[in-house]
Amino acid sequence: MNGKKRIFATSRIGDAAENRLRECGYELEVFQGPAAPSKSLIIKKVKSGIDALITTLRDKIDAEVFEAGKGTLRVVAQIAVGFDNINRADANKYKIPFTNTADVLTEATAEFGFFMMGMLARKMYASEKLVREEKWPSWHPFLPFLGDEVTGKTIAIIGTGRIGLAMIKKCSGFDMNILCYDPAYQNNKYIAAIQQVMDLRHAAGIQKEETRIKYVDFEEALRGADYVSIHVPLLREGETDKPTFHLINEKTLKLMKPTAYLINTSRGPVVDEKALAKGLKRNVIAGAALDVFEKEPLPADSPLLDPKIADRCRLFHHFASGATITRLDVDPDKGMAGRTAQAVIDVLEGKYGGDSSKMPYVVNKEAFQK
Ligand code: NAD
Repeated sequence: MNGKKRIFATSRIGDAAENRLRECGYELEVFQGPAAPSKSLIIKKVKSGIDALITTLRDKIDAEVFEAGKGTLRVVAQIAVGFDNINRADANKYKIPFTNTADVLTEATAEFGFFMMGMLARKMYASEKLVREEKWPSWHPFLPFLGDEVTGKTIAIIGTGRIGLAMIKKCSGFDMNILCYDPAYQNNKYIAAIQQVMDLRHAAGIQKEETRIKYVDFEEALRGADYVSIHVPLLREGETDKPTFHLINEKTLKLMKPTAYLINTSRGPVVDEKALAKGLKRNVIAGAALDVFEKEPLPADSPLLDPKIADRCRLFHHFASGATITRLDVDPDKGMAGRTAQAVIDVLEGKYGGDSSKMPYVVNKEAFQK
């Protein structure tokens, strides 16, 4: 033992942030992956007396892990905004703060969601395939296929937290009508400001049609939208009175227009994939673009990979926040890696008077409020 504070990271977080932690004098051990370490390895490392554990959404962090770190583990720092892999009640029971990387990935995730929507509706993947496979016979007014416009259409934003609001901002630039749904958080000030911008654009002749934004209930959002974009956290039964697990299922899919498209950049289990694949096959909705899955990586036998729906189902590798600055910048106000490193430093150096409830990146502040 050299007296240095020790950190175990279950994944690389990039040279810059790793160097920052080492420059702070910490002994940093990084699991080189690229896949996640086993839970037993994480427990072994925690049991060895590490001060901080850096995690990704692939690691299940629960009572077993916190018990292994009893008396030694001081912080779990997750490189993600979503933390459904960390059991909050268990963290609170053991009084271990855990942190996330909210804000820095908001715009990147929203823009990816927006691009997914455009790519799906305008059939960009099919178009490029045609060219690459030399199957493009001739320009034609409607053959071999057409796509659907995004401009001027109606989008439902399910969940108006950070990423939902950023998506709204992007959609308003495309002259879209916007239906918002969020049972817990209604940002009426933001929505009023967007309406003002919409009205101004129309009055100035920037957009031809008048557009509207408003909060509605879930059913109205699904029924009225040409696009439904999901921005909720994964919340299971027992964690809240409004769980999001399988929020999109056989029943709710049927509320959508048969011409509508679903976009999911939130968490896989928010969508019942079996029901979605079935719905796509039966043309219950027109298409779906998914960045996240019930099981990741997507298993080879997933019904979503059925070639029969390949023309209307776009699939991505949990990539919405996957832009260089967003993922790796060492500045905690720019990059997830930088924010993760800063979160560890805040706790290990006792910043904010050592009060975890005052540390900006700590999620479970309730466990420390006096
Ligand atoms: P946030 O907490 O700011 O917003 C989530 C919103 O969802 C909140 O306003 C909340 O009230 C609302 N909500 C909760 N339950 C709901 C329900 N039943 N119906 C409708 N709305 C509900 O979180 P955020 O920063 O906007 O991130 C949202 C989620 O996106 C994260 O939890 C994460 O799982 C996911 N995410 C994915 C990627 C990716 O790479 N694909 C990147 C970042 C975030």
